[in-house]
Amino acid sequence: MSKQQFQTEVSQLLQLIVHSLYSHPEIFLRELISNSSDALDKLRHLTLVDEKYKALIGTSIAAPRIDLDLNEARKTLTLSDTGIGMNEEDLVSHLGTIARSGTRNFLAQLSGDAKKDSNLIGQFGVGFYSVFMVADKVEVFSRKAGEDKTWKWTSDGKTGFELEEASGAEARSTAGTTVLIHFNEEGAQYANGWRLQEIVKKYSNHIAFPIFLTYEKSEWNEETKTSEKTRVTEQVNAASAMWQRPKSELTDEDYKEFYKSITGDWEDPLFWFHTRAEGTYEYTTLFYIPAKAPMDLYQADYKGGIKLYVKRVFIMDDSKELLPQYLRFVRGIIDSEDLPLNVSREILQQNKVLNTIKTASVKKILSELKSIATNDKEKYAQFIAEYNRPLKEGVYGDFANRDTLLDLVRFKSTSVDGLTSLADAKARMQPEQKALYYITGGSESMLRNSPLLEIYKKKGIEVLILDDDIDEIVFSTVPQYDGVDFKSVNKSGAGEDLKDESTPEETAEKTEALKPLLEKIKATLGEAVKEVRASARLAESPSVIVSDEDEPSARMRQMMQAMGQ
Ligand code: ADP
Ligand code: MG
Repeated sequence: MSKQQFQTEVSQLLQLIVHSLYSHPEIFLRELISNSSDALDKLRHLTLVDEKYKALIGTSIAAPRIDLDLNEARKTLTLSDTGIGMNEEDLVSHLGTIARSGTRNFLAQLSGDAKKDSNLIGQFGVGFYSVFMVADKVEVFSRKAGEDKTWKWTSDGKTGFELEEASGAEARSTAGTTVLIHFNEEGAQYANGWRLQEIVKKYSNHIAFPIFLTYEKSEWNEETKTSEKTRVTEQVNAASAMWQRPKSELTDEDYKEFYKSITGDWEDPLFWFHTRAEGTYEYTTLFYIPAKAPMDLYQADYKGGIKLYVKRVFIMDDSKELLPQYLRFVRGIIDSEDLPLNVSREILQQNKVLNTIKTASVKKILSELKSIATNDKEKYAQFIAEYNRPLKEGVYGDFANRDTLLDLVRFKSTSVDGLTSLADAKARMQPEQKALYYITGGSESMLRNSPLLEIYKKKGIEVLILDDDIDEIVFSTVPQYDGVDFKSVNKSGAGEDLKDESTPEETAEKTEALKPLLEKIKATLGEAVKEVRASARLAESPSVIVSDEDEPSARMRQMMQAMGQ
């Protein structure tokens, strides 16, 4: 037997789970069932594409199912699956460390305030370790498909775990994993058949595999007029691929519950889009927008949120090929009737079927968002608060959908509190206004107080306040919105095109009068500036520094320098 310490992060997470996460202990069951479902998905896929595994069906690979076996008297629950299983190495790395950077990131964000932290953890899902909210001891017996040995992992969820080979009755005859939970005081409430059924139905009803519960059922006996206890095994969940059911049969609750079961989020999603396509290719998609942006949204190693199925068989998740990067916050499933089951990540990149599905899915998601933006402004504002920035990435990254994306993104502006759409800014244009103006290069308050805005203020012309560092990159690639040019007020030419009250003669006269002063300033500043000239763009301030019309702005130059250019 070997005794091993948990990785430091695991201990931290366990501490937290036990001491502050008391608000939803029941999710332990959802987490364990979703792990079993993943394990069953993986094995089913292997048996379809690999002869070696196919040959084991009926002997060491059993029919896919999940079994819950409750022992009310001992207050234990066994959760058993016939999935892919884990060997010694897997147990150490999967149930002893935290491999995902998202989890570490999560730990770094913890505030120490129990309530805030438990909300955080809800968004993110603690996975297997959540079982220690309800258990003081957990035993895991697992046998990996294609291997003979069963390994036993035992832990009290405090410092570490023990690992040994299981023998006798503890050895599994088929591949899969059994988790034996010894409920603690908090968990004792779950040693109840009705309660367990309720939780399974709530969170795991649409798990694609049957979930059976064995428990003591009390039934009224008409003859003896007493309530009798019998031990029964009943299937608890619907076990259908819910996305294949017609929309008309599905309730909002079905959609929300399914979302929670695939993401581990415990907040309802903002909205979802369910589509069945029956053209050249047949496929079903179900996409969700989480209420809160995923924690790893701005990390290079973010986890993709789309699961790929072929004819209801799980193929893979965490693939970055299924949607463009800027839509990485979308969660859900794609189920295709036309892809081969043994499709690999490499094949996916140039697969025609998948490309068609992907293109149509992006169009669908964006057009749905557009209709929400029009019909439900309040909901859309919630969406924008989380996802404006990734959409802006789309504006410069997704040329084909640029027009739609330009309609979806929102900006600050001198004319509104909060945010505006470009369409609204265009509608507010003054008769003499020739372009949509914007200002970049600093914080919001700095930009709002910039002397560059004076002339626009005076003339009642709106200027977009672009204080997000991505804005400038976006605008550098987009010349127009709906036939109207964008123009930066930071550039030398801007403002000059605004009509001045002075006649051309008056302007020439003023410029002439200023000439000696301008020359003197240029002489003093020397090489530090390219040119010093008179301008009609200021109303209150005496002078302002701007970039040359054709040159990148100061901020862009900084960014380009940073990128080594
Ligand atoms: P996640 O499911 O998000 O990866 P978990 O903490 O729930 O995180 O599980 C950690 C890992 O342990 C899983 O990714 C999987 O590799 C392994 N695992 C957990 N439960 C099972 C199971 N029932 N069968 C096979 N592997 C499992
Ligand atoms: Mg999990």
